[in-house]
Amino acid sequence: MSEPLLSVTGLEKHFPVTKGLLKRQVGAVKAVDGVDFDVYKGETLGLVGESGCGKSTTGRLVTRLLEPTGGRIVFEGQDITHMRQGRLRPLRRDMQMIFQDPYSSLNPRHTVGAIVGAPFRIQGVKTEHGVRKAVQEILELVGLNPEHYNRYPHEFSGGQRQRIGIARTLALKPKLIIADEPVSALDVSIQAQVVNLLEDLQNELDLTYVVIAHDLSVVRHISDRVAVMYLGKIVEIADRKSLYASPMHPYTNALLSAVPIPDPKARLGRERIRLSGDVPSPLNPPPACRFHTRCWKAQEVCKTVEPLLTELASGHRVACHFPENAPENTPKPASTAETAPNETAAGKTAPGETAPGETAPGKTAAGETVAKP
Ligand code: SF4
Repeated sequence: MSEPLLSVTGLEKHFPVTKGLLKRQVGAVKAVDGVDFDVYKGETLGLVGESGCGKSTTGRLVTRLLEPTGGRIVFEGQDITHMRQGRLRPLRRDMQMIFQDPYSSLNPRHTVGAIVGAPFRIQGVKTEHGVRKAVQEILELVGLNPEHYNRYPHEFSGGQRQRIGIARTLALKPKLIIADEPVSALDVSIQAQVVNLLEDLQNELDLTYVVIAHDLSVVRHISDRVAVMYLGKIVEIADRKSLYASPMHPYTNALLSAVPIPDPKARLGRERIRLSGDVPSPLNPPPACRFHTRCWKAQEVCKTVEPLLTELASGHRVACHFPENAPENTPKPASTAETAPNETAAGKTAPGETAPGETAPGKTAAGETVAKP
């Protein structure tokens, strides 16, 4: 495989928690705590997880809007982890961000021309006449009227505002775009338009995307590969088809089981996994596997040994001692000597199956999976 456009290794962001007048540090919120992934040219990587799992912080770290606490970010072969802002400025042309809320991410006092033209002016790459021409071309590219140059954001609908945000992102012809929940603030009817626009632009301009979202339907539509985050860590990463067809991490299974299915027949045959409890605080995350407090398959080893992100099938990496849907003969981590939750003492029952007449651990007789109390 070719060299990745973006390579992230052991990325960390710990926000200090301070107390008293002297602001003594008494702890740290581990928003991102050891994240690894690569993004290849021309692909879309979806980053999904519940609210508060650290996916937006990861996006801001990668674009250096936040300063990482640890780890390494390499973009186009250059280590940008702690690069000074002056040296970073030319690289910012190649790496842009689309923000979630088109209502608050656009300055209401600036015209569309000023907003979309700002990157040209900041980088000093065009004359004023050139900026106007370039902005009008970009507005047309994202499906807006070039005559809107002198209008203000409040004159547009939510979908149009997001198009303005996308136009600003495209101004300097970036190579990588981090889209942070690009459609979650929009009406459902507008979401499809913006997702299609992002896909068209990717084909036309050879863009690479990292799309951050909590909506697995959006991620499924737009991504080539998907990474699932839980409490500051990636727990599973795989190509889209493999992840949606055979999720291996229990948390991914739970997320996918909650995705609405329009077909009532298909919905009847689906098993819904209900997780109990809230996401634990990143201030004091559970030891070893962070998901063990909500996982119906948790064993003693899950509370003492951290499962590492390991490749179990071609290109499919998962951090779990007892993965679901694992291919046959998948070697179990050396630390998991105990009997797996879905195995009988003789070890004859395949993961995810139960012998006739038995009820699977963590399941009701009706087959509904329940999370641990
Ligand atoms: Fe559940 Fe254990 Fe896997 Fe964590 S390591 S997801 S607790 S089975």
